[in-house]
Amino acid sequence: MGAKKARLSAFLAKHPFCCFCGGSAAATTQDHIPPRGIFAEKKWPEGYVFPGCTSCNNGSARDDALVAFLSRMNVDAADGTVEAMEWNKLLTSIREHYPGLAREMILSANEVRRWMRKHGVAKPFGLTYGEVPMIRIPEVIVAAVRRFNNKLLRALHYKHTGMIIPSTAWTHLQWWTNANLLAREFPREIAEMMPGRAALKRGKVLLGNQFGYSFGTGNDGTLGAYLATFRKSFVVVGVVVFDAALMVDIDEKAVDSTVQHVVEARVEVDLAPVTNSDT
Ligand SMILES: [Zn+2]
Repeated sequence: MGAKKARLSAFLAKHPFCCFCGGSAAATTQDHIPPRGIFAEKKWPEGYVFPGCTSCNNGSARDDALVAFLSRMNVDAADGTVEAMEWNKLLTSIREHYPGLAREMILSANEVRRWMRKHGVAKPFGLTYGEVPMIRIPEVIVAAVRRFNNKLLRALHYKHTGMIIPSTAWTHLQWWTNANLLAREFPREIAEMMPGRAALKRGKVLLGNQFGYSFGTGNDGTLGAYLATFRKSFVVVGVVVFDAALMVDIDEKAVDSTVQHVVEARVEVDLAPVTNSDT
């Protein structure tokens, strides 16, 4: 048995069940959550590998590329840096796999102006509406982010409680782009509900500016809430309550948020969640 294979079977012996689909399917693979592609220079956080069954793992490569694309939209990399090279490579591959997608993302100056007026967002100084770095997020990316968020919630809950979310559990997932933050559509008090802050690193490299999250868990692992940020591009909130009967009164209409725009790096938005710092 090769070293890689031996490591995989040791991992699967420790984590025999897929953590993404309720807990009855046998795990056959290791799944990196978040995908390695979102991290610069292939430095993804240690310990964020999860047991997945073949069916949950199928198709995630495409979603992973789209999620990485969205999260890296905000990288302000100078020419010649590794991040700039990675961005160009990702862009080339997205263009190959999704012809027409880049075109779909372009907003006209009028659309930008209308969005900014509607949301009471001021135009950045010195730019025309045509120059404001805003994009439309096409449906194919929205769908990929939703599937990814679902996996993210299940992975993080497994990591922090050791428990697999059952298929009968109540879950709530919502996400916001930095454009939603500019428009003050993100309820910042959510962040205060989550006392824990995960410190992510690989070796000595801190990764929190690329991916970071706060969380809270309770009731022996049958409750969990997570707030994750992906660079300054988007933020995801996931909540799980194992006993769905507790949640019958929640308004289901509020469950899915549709996002349409993301703003690039030149418009500075602080996406770091509020932590319960003792400073
Ligand atoms: Zn599965």
